[in-house]
Amino acid sequence: MDCLFCKIINKELPAKIIYEDEKYLAFLDINPITAGHTLLILKDHVDNFTHLSDQQAADLASMIHKIAPKIIEILGADAYNLGINNGAAAGQIIDHVHWHIIPRYSDDALVHWSCDNQAKEQLDNVFSKLENKL
Ligand code: AMP
Ligand code: ZN
Repeated sequence: MDCLFCKIINKELPAKIIYEDEKYLAFLDINPITAGHTLLILKDHVDNFTHLSDQQAADLASMIHKIAPKIIEILGADAYNLGINNGAAAGQIIDHVHWHIIPRYSDDALVHWSCDNQAKEQLDNVFSKLENKL
């Protein structure tokens, strides 16, 4: 399969692997947003978060809950962001589910998300679409 992350799993491509077991791999992002930016992946090839089974999603969340605080503690970071870019419009480039762990430092240069005024105008409309539908 022509998947860059499967190639890393199969050791056909090098990566700075910081954790590995039979189901998961965590390695440093080659273009880090902050120091310690890490990707956690499942060894099973699943293209995006929507296509994970309930069990895979739960297991992945459990693993991120386990390793993210350790990364932050070891690196002496102050906080962390977690993120999954799901789909091209959301910025997903690699079609193998990966969870970004982004250590944050009180003096880092990352900007916070900001409010979009057009989205704010749609709050009532969006609420009426979603309320009690999930
Ligand atoms: P996304 O935009 O969510 O699909 O994120 C893909 C991430 O993979 C980006 O942050 C890239 O910097 C990272 N990346 C791409 N190729 C490699 C690689 N060979 N080793 C480590 N990280 C990579
Ligand atoms: Zn893959």
